[in-house]
Amino acid sequence: MSDLRSLPSVDKLINTSRGSEWIAGYGRPLTVEAVRATLDDVRAGYEMGESLPSQAELLVKVVDKLEAWVAPTLRPVVNASGVIIHTNLGRAPMSPSALRAASWVSAGYSNLEYDLAEGKRGTRLLHAEALLTRLTGAEDALVVNNNAAAVLLALTALARRRRVVIARSQLVEIGGGFRIPDVMKQSGAILVEIGTTNRVHLRDYQKVINEQPVKLVMRAHRSNFAIIGFTTEPALDEIVAAAHASDIPVLDDLGSGTLLGTAQFGLAHEPMVQESLAAGADLVCFSGDKLLGGPQAGIILGRSELISKLKKHPLARAVRSDKLALAALSATLLHYLKDEAVSEIPVWRMISANQDEIQARAQGWMTTLKSGEVIPGESTVGGGSLPGETLPTSSLALDLPHPDRFLNLLRENNPPIIGRIQDGLAVFDPRTVLPEQDEILLEGVQKCID
Ligand SMILES: *Cc1c(COP(=O)(O)O)cnc(C)c1O
Repeated sequence: MSDLRSLPSVDKLINTSRGSEWIAGYGRPLTVEAVRATLDDVRAGYEMGESLPSQAELLVKVVDKLEAWVAPTLRPVVNASGVIIHTNLGRAPMSPSALRAASWVSAGYSNLEYDLAEGKRGTRLLHAEALLTRLTGAEDALVVNNNAAAVLLALTALARRRRVVIARSQLVEIGGGFRIPDVMKQSGAILVEIGTTNRVHLRDYQKVINEQPVKLVMRAHRSNFAIIGFTTEPALDEIVAAAHASDIPVLDDLGSGTLLGTAQFGLAHEPMVQESLAAGADLVCFSGDKLLGGPQAGIILGRSELISKLKKHPLARAVRSDKLALAALSATLLHYLKDEAVSEIPVWRMISANQDEIQARAQGWMTTLKSGEVIPGESTVGGGSLPGETLPTSSLALDLPHPDRFLNLLRENNPPIIGRIQDGLAVFDPRTVLPEQDEILLEGVQKCID
């Protein structure tokens, strides 16, 4: 008989041995919901005279639903794209000790806001700050949720309803909709643009400062684009001198920023945090998870008088950093303090990776897979740092009839594998693949070739 009335009931399906397994694995309410939804689907799609699914088929449908409902949407992936700080792939992978610190401080209680010496309320603000001031020589430091929050807090606390001067060539959109002019608007600051798209002169700063009541001068890193050709921009120390002549503080949004020089790795020079402070910037802000190589955070360094204004502003509470990030950030900063950043922090290890080692790894992959070839290519740093700069690399390249379809398939792998197309080939850059992921990558690629 092929009739909807012959479908088993919810109870009947739940009271099978599979039903008991599901209840043990997924809990009763979710299991009941999955069984009910499966039966509803069958009823909704049923047409007169059709045969109904067997009980075994129904059980498969139920388990598919349960698995889909509990599958995490946020999952680890293998990044073989060659983009080191890939914002869509979670930016900087963290060092093992940063991970340990985050897990160790969050599995139980901590002295997050507790002064152990006094036995009373303390402040979360001190945890990463001593390390930051020691590393950079800044008078004071404040850590917030991310750099966008750092910029918003600084502008709101220092320049709400007041004029903030910025060069037109720095009114950038960073990605994910973060636009400097919009953040200014949100903070209530009044934007005063100076210069042209390609050129801004010191006299542009001096003129506006002499003619209008300016509260703050801001400089923003252009992040993911470069202006080339007929361009000019005064150096930070010149801007600072012009602003300080009228007692106006300077905020430098470095975006990525870096505590290590990038030229030693064959890259262009990325503005360093220490340089901005040395040039006299009153506040410098940057991300925790770009070239610093730590957790998501916004780091603000600079003059105590200004930082304490930021700390006291109500918005500071809304954008504060959590204990996981503070623990991981402190552990990351310790790598710099102990002069082991290049070997311990994954982004620096990737940036400094030896060309021969990368090539040997790509060749090892080729040997294991017994297919493809090793071709030269370029890795990029990403994360809005060093726009247009690349590092020479060697990638495994597979010549397949439909490389795009192949990459789609790899994204369905568990864990998903992210490759790239270069000259019509599917390529995989060892530089951004963590050493312990080699086997996962090769198994996934082999499965998709077959
Ligand atoms: C990346 C970036 C930001 C935003 O930093 P988040 O940590 O992503 O919030 C702000 N300003 C500049 C110049 C940037 O490059």
